[in-house]
Amino acid sequence: MPKHIASGLKYLAAVRLKDEGKSQQYIADQLDIDRSTVSHYFNGRNLKWNSIDVAKTITELSPADFLAMVKAVFEDADMARKIVLICKENNYDAMIKESCIGCGLCVNLCFMKAIKLDSLHAQIDSICCCGCYICKEECPTNSIKILEIEND
Ligand code: SF4
Ligand code: SF4
Repeated sequence: MPKHIASGLKYLAAVRLKDEGKSQQYIADQLDIDRSTVSHYFNGRNLKWNSIDVAKTITELSPADFLAMVKAVFEDADMARKIVLICKENNYDAMIKESCIGCGLCVNLCFMKAIKLDSLHAQIDSICCCGCYICKEECPTNSIKILEIEND
């Protein structure tokens, strides 16, 4: 695992959470690092700026490529999901049409675990969706609609 790139992504996530007003302890718990490491991040210590530049480039990729890169960097699927959720730039409104036949293909494809089946009808949690469009492209009945929400 490229640890320095993973650290760069965690640094970006820590800065995002700090901007949202989260405490250092909360950030440490979310990113599975020591609180002192979070403190070092914000004091500019223990940082490798090249790694942060690479991490920034990753977050600026298209959602599908961003997701693929973060999956590749972290061996830990839960941590990869957390980083994607914290660092994703845009929000998405995801919905399933009535034409869904409940085959479950999308449930298995979604790395973000944003889709569930309920009474043979898929349901998407828009908060967890990172807009990768993988489910939409693979749905056999073209039942998935993903809309990017304009940020103010
Ligand atoms: S892949 Fe399409 S048809 Fe199958 S469960 Fe998902 S939305 Fe429904
Ligand atoms: S676009 Fe589909 S596969 Fe991708 S994160 Fe959203 S719900 Fe999951």
